[in-house]
Parts: sequence; structure tokens; C-alpha cells
Amino acid sequence: MGSAPRAVIDLAALRHNLERVRAAAPNSRVLAVVKANAYGHGLLRIAKALESVVDALAVARVGEGISLRQAGIFCPIVVLEGGTDRQELDLAVAHRLELVVHNLEQVKQLQQYKTHTPLACWLKIDSGMHRLGLSTVAAPAAYQALAACRAVSGKPRLMTHFANADDPADPATQTQWQLFQTIASELGTEVSAANSGAILGWPETHADWVRPGIMLYGVSPFLNGRPETDDLRPVMSLQSQLIAINHYKKGDAIGYSGSWVCPQDMAVGVLSMGYGDGYPRHAASGTPVLLNGQRVPLVGRVSMDMITLDLRGCPGARVGDPAILWGAGLPVEEIAEAANTIPYQLLCGVTARVDFVEG
Ligand SMILES: *Cc1c(COP(=O)(O)O)cnc(C)c1O
Repeated sequence: MGSAPRAVIDLAALRHNLERVRAAAPNSRVLAVVKANAYGHGLLRIAKALESVVDALAVARVGEGISLRQAGIFCPIVVLEGGTDRQELDLAVAHRLELVVHNLEQVKQLQQYKTHTPLACWLKIDSGMHRLGLSTVAAPAAYQALAACRAVSGKPRLMTHFANADDPADPATQTQWQLFQTIASELGTEVSAANSGAILGWPETHADWVRPGIMLYGVSPFLNGRPETDDLRPVMSLQSQLIAINHYKKGDAIGYSGSWVCPQDMAVGVLSMGYGDGYPRHAASGTPVLLNGQRVPLVGRVSMDMITLDLRGCPGARVGDPAILWGAGLPVEEIAEAANTIPYQLLCGVTARVDFVEG
């Protein structure tokens, strides 16, 4: 396979995870979130695998929606950040994209917009996350204005987003849900609130549409979570292989800045994988790597193209041996904790230098 790192994408795992969504929220339609290159898994590959088995796809930006249309994806596509100007409204119409409307400026733009092919819209309400969305005070009038808009087709749907659904013990989700519900029940249209954390942790929030992202990719949405706890299967396995095994003396310092010093005479392995591939530079000494299926600690600094491994526990290791940096058998959740970040960032950050293959 050569020494080039690979990201192996398991589409059977993706389908399994979607089944987990369907089982958890059997009465809801599924708006599958594929923003940010499908969380780094490859937008088109994932969209093609999902389009016939989900009810709609969600992206963050108009450009992502256009990429999907140009690749021949026909299912409904929702743009979570909506449009910012007239030109984006033209593009949304031309590519049949559904827009999320989250501020009064966008409502005004739609009121002034003339088109023969009206757009489907979702009104986003800020129920407490305080990022995007109309206040609960402004929302009912904005809803009526949108519903009366010629440029808007059908009844607008309502959406909100939870700030704390990654913690099932945090009552903020319940508070947000109740506030959202109060408004939504008055307006009598379809609603959507649940991201992955709420799909698994807050069944009362499932409503008409759920919006799974991270769980589709086989990653726990919960703080300190692990995929097997919720029967999720990692979709991405980031892999590489050993390109050198060197023998050093007690006291020898390994790599940039010599931050790790050999505590005894020992073998150190070099793996072709670095921050230039998206492996986190802040992964600390001790972060596990799966070498020949065995956990081995990373030692020293992560370089652009390489990392070094403590091979004291694996006398049988050979150059060319395969390694898994995260994926099946080594949850990305664990690597994220060791690098002081979140799985979302690691998955999104795998770079174009890595070969993506299905397997
Ligand atoms: C990204 C996103 C989601 C998916 O969230 P996950 O935590 O990945 O499930 C859902 N809704 C909105 C509005 C989002 O931006």
C-alpha cells in the first residue's frame, strides 16, 4: 500500500449508524448533516451513500449545496446558514436549495425577492444557544411574514439548535426545548431541534425532523463518550505504516526540541503521519496508536509528516507494519481527549494529502 497515509471510509458503518438514528427516532424524518466535507469524510461519497436513505441533506453554505447538485444529488438540500445576499438567493433557486432564515435581514430580502420558482424555507429560532436565530419574541411575526412571502413555497418550517445536548445531565436542553415548543405549537408547522446528542439523549425533542451529524460518522456525541456505548461504528479509519525502527541509548532525546528522552536503551518507531495529514500536533506523549492491533504510545513531538512511537512493548515490530491512528479499535474520541480537542475537529481536519479509499 505504500507509505502514504490513508483514510478508509466504511460505508456499511455509515448505514449502520443511520439505522441507529432511525431506531432512536422512529417517527421523525432525517435531515442528515454533511457540512464541512461530510465531517471530513468526503462530501460526495457520503452524500451519494445517504441520498436515497435519508429524507434530506444539510450543508452549512450555499456553495456546498451547489457542489452536491453539480455532482447529481437530487434529494432536498437544506443550507443551515441560509443566504447572505440576492446572488445567493438566485443560486438557491437555480439549484433548488432550501434556506434557513435566521435574521430579519434575510426575511426582508425574501420579501423583496421576485422569482417564478419559490424556495422552501426554515425559520431558525434562538431558544438559548445565542448564536443564530430570531428571538422568541420576534419569531412569530417573522414566521407570518415568511409564510406570506411569494418567494417562499409552502409553510416555513421551524428549527432551533441546542447548546448543551452533549451533556445528558444538563437541564439547559430541556429549557431550550420548552421555550421552542411554546412558540412552535402556536404556529402549527413542522419543527426540528435534535442534533445527535438530543437524538440519543433527549427523545422528547425528536419532533418532525432530526438532524444527526456526528453520530452518523460513528462518533459519540457525548462528553467523554465512546461509540460502543451507543452502538455506533466509526466510519473513518486513519491509517499509515512504520517507515523506520531505530535503536537509541538511555538519555537520547527524540525529535523536535527533544521533549521526550529515552528512559532506557530502546527501539523507537517512526510512522508516516503528521500534522500535515491532520493528525493533531498537540497529541501528547502517551497518546495511543494501534500498531499491528496493539496499543503503542506516541512519544515526543508530532512533526509535519511523522510521529515517533515507543516500541518497548512490541519486539516483533517491523518496517511496513500497519498502524491505525483512529477508527475501528481506537476511538477518535480518545485521541481528541489526548490532544485537548473534540472529535469533530480531528475528523474535519484530515488533509487532502491523505488518500481516501472505501473499505
Ligand atoms: C452541525 C449541526 C447539526 C449536527 O450536529 P451533531 O452534533 O454533529 O449531530 C445539527 N444542526 C445544526 C444546525 C448544525 O449546525
